[in-house]
Amino acid sequence: MLSLVVPCYNEEENIRMFYEAVTGQYEALLGMGVKTEIIFVDDGSSDGTVREVYGLQDTCAEVKLVELSRNFGKEAAMYAGLLEATGDLTAIIDVDLQDPPSLLPQMVKSVISGECDCVATRRVSRQGEPPIRSFFARLFYKIMNKLSDVQLMDGARDFRVMSREMTDAILEVSERNRFSKGIFAWVGFKTKWLEYENIERTAGKTKWSFFKLFVYAVDGLTAFSAKPLSITSFIGLLFCFISLLLIILIIVRKLIFGDPVDGWPSLACIIFFVAGIQLFCIGIVGLYVSKTYSESKRRPVFIKRKSKREKKEISDKQH
Ligand code: UDP
Ligand code: MG
Repeated sequence: MLSLVVPCYNEEENIRMFYEAVTGQYEALLGMGVKTEIIFVDDGSSDGTVREVYGLQDTCAEVKLVELSRNFGKEAAMYAGLLEATGDLTAIIDVDLQDPPSLLPQMVKSVISGECDCVATRRVSRQGEPPIRSFFARLFYKIMNKLSDVQLMDGARDFRVMSREMTDAILEVSERNRFSKGIFAWVGFKTKWLEYENIERTAGKTKWSFFKLFVYAVDGLTAFSAKPLSITSFIGLLFCFISLLLIILIIVRKLIFGDPVDGWPSLACIIFFVAGIQLFCIGIVGLYVSKTYSESKRRPVFIKRKSKREKKEISDKQH
């Protein structure tokens, strides 16, 4: 059995199209002896996403729905879906058809043949994306790979098929600040990469603003690397050393030339500069403190809401 985990946030136009695209692959999958279940995770949508899924559930037994009590973000939605997945294989796939379901049979084949534990995908092109966004995305991957132990693929998507073993490993990483791309790499296992050209989403709008992506990038970096902290102490040391040299220089100058009073503008500049660096470093430390704080509260990653169907089943039992 293959469990497809599909996070959805305000995607009413896409649900049906997605379902049709996936059912198109059923035959090929069944040919390999693989049955499919689809787990839609409604991430607190405010449009008709849930209604669309209910519509599917009326006729299709393999469609499941997990409803979250509000919008927790894609990371939480993926986690919620993976927890629900019962299949021997799990897949994460976007509902906007940017992750082509037609790749599924080929991906599943590689995993069941034992060739690898996971088939992941990456986009090799970024057509249709603003150039500035692509530039910062590339920069992020460069910095991330330099600073952290886990290696991320440039352009990696969350779209992947995984073995049960790997899924369990991912679920065991129960941290609250979830950065899945990092977690996938961190748990290890043999991963095969599949490349494809970027595809525009079928309907609706992307949920990621530039600012959100920036926060996501900082989150990822601080979740998988403590190097920024070491860098701050290095900067501190460097500045101590430079000021020591300058102090010696000033003393020597005074001994030779006496004490002409000037140079307060340069002094003011130096004070501003050093204060700026200090604030910046404290800010970085603050990021880690806030991470530790939110982890230590141990709040759940997501909260489920009973779906209408479940409520009905319960009330039917009572009567
Ligand atoms: N998504 C979600 N919760 C959110 C934002 C997005 O579940 O808070 C889902 C969304 O419905 C879609 C997937 O995550 O299925 C990817 O989102 P999107 O297409 O906006 O991202 P992009 O493809 O532009 O990276
Ligand atoms: Mg998308």
